[in-house]
Amino acid sequence: MADDNFSSLFDLLPIGAYRSMPDGRQLRANAALVKLNGYSSEAEMLLAVNTIGAEWYVEAGRHDEFMRLVQTQSFVSDFISEIYQHNSPKPIWVREHAHAVRDTSGNIAYYEGTVEDISAERAAQQEIATSERRFRAMTEKAQVVTVICTREGIITYASPACQSTLGVEPHGLIGTLIFDWVHPDDLAKGESEFALVVAGTNSGAETVSRFRHSDGSWRHLSAVGNSALADDAVRGVILNFRDVTDARRAEERLTILATIDMLTALKNRSAFEAAAIAELEVVRGTPGRCAALYFIDLDRFKLINDSVGHAIGDRVLREIGRRLNHSAPPRATVGRLGGDEFAMLLPCGDTPSEPELIAAGIVAALSAPMQIGDMAFTVTASVGVCVFPDHADSFELMLRYADLAMLDAKSTRRDAFRVFHSSLAVVAQDRLSLVEELREALLLGQLEVFYQPQVSLVDAELMGLEALVRWRHPTRGLIAPDTFISLAEDVGLISAIGEIVAERAVSDMARWQIAYGRPLTLALNVSAMQLRDATFIEQLSDILRRHDFPAQSLELEITESALVASLDLAPGVLRALHRLGARVVLDDLGVAYSSFAYLKQFQVHGVKLDRGFVDGVPGDATDSAIVRAIISLARSLKLRVVAEGIEHAEQRMYLIDQGCAEGQGFLFSKPLPWASIDALFAAPSHVIGQRVLLLPNR
Ligand code: C2E
Ligand code: MG
Ligand code: MG
Repeated sequence: MADDNFSSLFDLLPIGAYRSMPDGRQLRANAALVKLNGYSSEAEMLLAVNTIGAEWYVEAGRHDEFMRLVQTQSFVSDFISEIYQHNSPKPIWVREHAHAVRDTSGNIAYYEGTVEDISAERAAQQEIATSERRFRAMTEKAQVVTVICTREGIITYASPACQSTLGVEPHGLIGTLIFDWVHPDDLAKGESEFALVVAGTNSGAETVSRFRHSDGSWRHLSAVGNSALADDAVRGVILNFRDVTDARRAEERLTILATIDMLTALKNRSAFEAAAIAELEVVRGTPGRCAALYFIDLDRFKLINDSVGHAIGDRVLREIGRRLNHSAPPRATVGRLGGDEFAMLLPCGDTPSEPELIAAGIVAALSAPMQIGDMAFTVTASVGVCVFPDHADSFELMLRYADLAMLDAKSTRRDAFRVFHSSLAVVAQDRLSLVEELREALLLGQLEVFYQPQVSLVDAELMGLEALVRWRHPTRGLIAPDTFISLAEDVGLISAIGEIVAERAVSDMARWQIAYGRPLTLALNVSAMQLRDATFIEQLSDILRRHDFPAQSLELEITESALVASLDLAPGVLRALHRLGARVVLDDLGVAYSSFAYLKQFQVHGVKLDRGFVDGVPGDATDSAIVRAIISLARSLKLRVVAEGIEHAEQRMYLIDQGCAEGQGFLFSKPLPWASIDALFAAPSHVIGQRVLLLPNR
C-alpha cells in the first residue's frame, strides 16, 4: 500500500483497510472501513476520528492488547473483537489483521491493517453451535431412543440412548427384528400398531410396550412411530421410544396404595366393594350358587380408643385385621370398611348352616385375648350376615342388610352374630324414629323404674332390689332397656337416663328401707359412658344426700366391658365411689373380658354371674365349669357372688351347692313396678308374684 498505484485497489477491497500513525492518527481508511465504521466518506471519518483508541472496543483492554501484539511481534492476525460503530448503538464483531512498518533505523513508521465485519458469520457459527448442542442433548443425553426399521421391522439404525435404556449398544440392535425385543404379552398390540405406522394410518398417539433390557428386566417404553418409507434419505419407519418405566412403577404403586387400607393391609372400602361386586357377578352367572356378606363391627371399640389412646387402638385394629385375614377361608374377600368395621364376602358352600358357622368362627377368632405391649385386651365383635340372592341381589343392599343384622346382634348382647331377616329392615327405620321419641320420653317422664328382688338363695330372704329401667311408650307399650340403652349410649342420652333412674330409685328405696326396717341394698346399673361423665359422682352424692339414703346401701353394677373400656378413668372413678361409701359390683361377668386381674385392681365388692352361664347349669358342662370356676375364684378373693337369671329350682340348688349365696331371677320374682313393691312392704305376708319371699319379722 506504500505504492500509490494500489490506491484504487485499496478502495476496491471488500474488507476495511487502513494506515495509521504510531500515535493513533489515521492516515487512510478505505471505503469498506468507512462504511464499516458508519461514516459516509473517508474525509468525514478522518476528520471525526483523530485516533483509533480504546473507546473503539467494547471490551476494555482490547486496544492495549492489540498494541502490545503489534509492537512486540510487529503483526497481529485474526484478532477478533466487538467494536462500536459511529452511527449505531449496536456493536459489531470484527476480525483484524495488522502489521507495523518500520523505518531503516527500526522504529515504527506506521501501521497498516484490515478490519472485517464478521457479525453475520459469528451469528451463524453460534447458531450452529447451539443447534449442535441441542441435537447432541436430544439424541445422546436424552432418554429418547430413535430406531429406524424396514417395513418388516428389521432395525437399520438405533440411537446411542439404546445403551442406557436397554443396556445394548446400537450395533447390538441393528439387524435384529424389533419384535424380538418386545414382551410376549405386548406383542400383538405392538405388531398391529407397527402395521398402522407402515400403512401411515396410525393415530400418532403413544403406545406403551415392555422391552427386554440386557439385565433381563422389562422396561416400559412409550413409542411414537412415523413412516419415512417414501423419504429417500430415510427409507424406513422411524420409531421414537421414551422410557416410562419409573412413571409406570410409580403409577402401579399408587394404584396399590389406593386400594389398600394402610393400617391393616387389607383391601380398603372401595377395593373391597369392587372385588365383592366382581365376585357377585361370577356367583350370579352360576345357577344355584350363593354368597354371603359378613359385616363385622367391633364392640365398643370407640371406648378402647378413647381410653388407651389411638396408637394402641390402631394396633388392636391391625391385630384384628390380621386375625380376620388369617381365619378367612381361601376363597374369601376380606376388607376394612373404615373405623372398626370389617367385611368379608364368601361364596356359599353346600351346607345351609354354613353362614352361621363362619360367623361364629369369626367371632371366636377375633375375641381371643390379645397382648399389646404390656396390656392384655379382649375385643369382641358383632357380625351381621346377608346372603345373596336370598336376602338381597345387589352388593349395596347386601351391605345395608348385613349392617342391620350386625346392629341387631349388637343390641341383643347375647348373640354375637345375626343372619339377616326381613323384619330387620323395619327395625332399622324404627331405630331412627326411636331416637327422636326417646328424647321426648325423657322430657315427658315416660321412663319408669322396675325393681327385681335379689335374695339369699338358701332361704329366699330379700337382700336388695336391682333397679331396671323401662320405657312406657304411648303406643308401643312397655319397652325393655335392651332396645334403647345402647341407642341412648350412642346418641349421648345415657347420662340423663341414669340420673332419672338414680333419682327415682333412691327416693323409692329410702322409703322402703324405713318400711322394711332393715337395710336393703339398691343395685343401680351404670353405663361406661356415665363413668366418663365428669359430673357423675357429684350428681350421685347429691341424690343420696337429698333422700338421706346411706351410700353403704348403694351398689353400682358396672358391666365388665364398660369398666375395661374406661380403664384409664376407672381408678379415679372407683376411688371416688369408695370415698362416697358406695360399692361396685361387676355385672355380666364372664361375657366379655373375664380377667380377674381387674377384680383385684379395682377393689370391686362383688360380681354378678351372667344369665348366659346360669342358663346352662347344671346341664351344660362348659357353662357349669365356668360357673364353678367363677364362684370359687370370687370366693377366694372374698367377693360377693350374685347369680342372675335363675329360673329353675335345679339352677338354684346347683348354685347353692357351689357356694353361691345370692341370686335373682324369675324363680323368685320378675322385675316389679314400684307399686307392687309398695304393696309388698305394706302387706303382712310378703308375696311377690307366685312365690313367697321369706321376710324376717319386723
Ligand atoms: P342386667 O343388669 O344384667 O339386668 C338383668 C336383666 O335380666 C334384666 O333385664 C332382667 O329383667 C333380666 N332377668 C332377671 N331375671 C331373669 C330371669 O330369670 N330370666 C330372664 N330371662 N331374664 C331375667 P332388663 O330389665 O331387660 O335389662 C336389661 C339390661 O339393661 C340390664 O342387664 C342392664 O344392663 C341394662 N339396664 C337396665 N336398666 C338400666 C339402667 O337404668 N341404666 C343402665 N345403664 N342400664 C340398664
Ligand atoms: Mg344389672
Ligand atoms: Mg347382668
